[in-house]
Amino acid sequence: MENLIEQFESIILNLIRSSRKKKDGTESFLLVDDFYYEYKVSYQSKNGKITWRCNNTDFPNCPGAVSIQGNNKPITVFRGHDHNPRIKTKVKEVKAQMRQMAENQPDTKPRKIILECQKNVSDEEAANLPSYNSARLVCYRSKIDPYAEYDIPNSSII
Ligand SMILES: [Zn+2]
Repeated sequence: MENLIEQFESIILNLIRSSRKKKDGTESFLLVDDFYYEYKVSYQSKNGKITWRCNNTDFPNCPGAVSIQGNNKPITVFRGHDHNPRIKTKVKEVKAQMRQMAENQPDTKPRKIILECQKNVSDEEAANLPSYNSARLVCYRSKIDPYAEYDIPNSSII
């Protein structure tokens, strides 16, 4: 069974839900590769191949890009990056995980969610994670108001 899970994890992509939705209100996702580079969708071709572009805002001109057939690995490197991956991406991933777990398991105590999500992080990453209290807030906010980060269209303001 464990083997099966490992195999599965080795083919699925590590997609994190972006806190920003698309203009039409649908969810948007960021891709994190095995080296913790972060990407956003650049374009999708007719045969289902998706090209992802580097999403590092500190290096907006980075040519880094990968291409993937649909939602499964392998990740094919299209162009390399001109910088190193950053720890912020890992932190973003952990926060997205917490949000997701809090939404999916409203009866689970925030403490348990936080411990669960932080279990596989390195010391360096742990130092950059949100404090316990702000992590707890992330969990509570996800439960109480799943649309807290939803962009309200301007037209609704009178
Ligand atoms: Zn890059």
